[in-house]
Amino acid sequence: MKIAGYNINLEKAVKTIKENDYKRVVLQVPDGLISHLSEFIEFLENKTDSSVIVSADSCFGACDFINSEFINIDIDFVIQIGHTPIPSIEDFQIPTLFANARSDLEITKVIEKAMPFLKGKKVGLISTAQHVHMLDNASKILVKNKFEPIIGKGDVRIQVKGQILGCNFSAATSIVDKIDSFLFIGSGNFHPLGLLLSTKKPVIACDPYSNEVKAKELDDLKDIILRQRYGAIARSKDAQVFGILVGLKRGQQRIEQAYKIKDMLDSRQKQSYIFALNHFSPSALESFRDIDCFISTACPRIAIDDYMQYKVPIITPVELDILLGLKKWADYQFDEILP
Ligand code: SF4
Repeated sequence: MKIAGYNINLEKAVKTIKENDYKRVVLQVPDGLISHLSEFIEFLENKTDSSVIVSADSCFGACDFINSEFINIDIDFVIQIGHTPIPSIEDFQIPTLFANARSDLEITKVIEKAMPFLKGKKVGLISTAQHVHMLDNASKILVKNKFEPIIGKGDVRIQVKGQILGCNFSAATSIVDKIDSFLFIGSGNFHPLGLLLSTKKPVIACDPYSNEVKAKELDDLKDIILRQRYGAIARSKDAQVFGILVGLKRGQQRIEQAYKIKDMLDSRQKQSYIFALNHFSPSALESFRDIDCFISTACPRIAIDDYMQYKVPIITPVELDILLGLKKWADYQFDEILP
C-alpha cells in the first residue's frame, strides 16, 4: 500500500495471514507512522478474517520486536511496520513480518546539491531502511558526474547493502579505507552523526524530504557530542558503585558483555550490579540512588542521544575502558552492536 510518500508491503502481510489462516494479529508501528494507524488496521481487517491489536509500546527499530509476551494472549502473527529485519535474529516465537516503509521521494536534485561538498572522488554511499533502495540510482547520478561511488556490505545485523542502523555502521566501516567521504541519504541527525563518529571520515548528509544538505553542521554537532562524552567520563571518575544496563529488547541484548564488564569491575574492587530493563528512561533509573555511574550495553544511543535527560552519567562500554585507563581518549570509538 502507498501511504504518506511510502510504499509499505502490507499486501505480503495479507497474503501470509490468508495462507496461514491467522486470526489474531499484532501491529507494531513507529511513532512517525502512528497517524496512519486506522488505515493500516482497515487495510488488514478488510482484506482478511483477522482482527488486529495495536502494540501501544513505542517501537524504535527492528531490535525492538514484540514476540513471546503475546503468546499469553494467543496472537498468531506480528507485523512490524517501518523497519527491515535484523538477519542474525531468527528465533521468533510468533511468526513476524517486517514491512519496511520505502520512501518514493525523488533524490536527484538533493544529490546534485550535495556534490560540491564531497571531498575527493571516491564516495561511500550510505542510507537507512527508508531510502537504501535508492542507492543504485544515487550511484548512477554520481558516476555521470565523474565520481566513483562504492556501496559497502554490512555484517549479519544488516539486511541491505549500504544500510546502516544507529547501532551498526558496518556497511560504512567495510569501505572506510577505500573512500574519501561518505554521502548519506536520509533525514535527521541520528544516523549521519553516528556515521561520522564511527568512521571518522567526512560525512555529507542530504535529506530528500527537506532538500537540505548538511556537512559543517554535522561536524559542529559531533564536537558537542564528544565534549558531552568527555564530560560523562570525567563525571564518573570517582564512581564506586556501577550499574550495568542490559536491554531486554531482543535485538539489543548484550548479556555476555555485561558479565565481562562486571568481572572487570570486580577485579578492580568496584561494586557493580546488572540491571535488566525493557524500556530505559530517566524515571526508570532514578530509584537506584546508590549508583554513581551506569554503563549501557543496550541501545548505544541511550548513552549518546538521551544523555542530558539522566541525572547520573551513563557511559558506553568503550567509555568505561577509557575511564579505567584501558584505552586513551584519542582512541575513542563509537559504541556499536556487532556480531
Ligand atoms: S539498538 Fe538502537 S540504534 Fe540499534 S536498531 Fe535498535 S533502536 Fe536502532
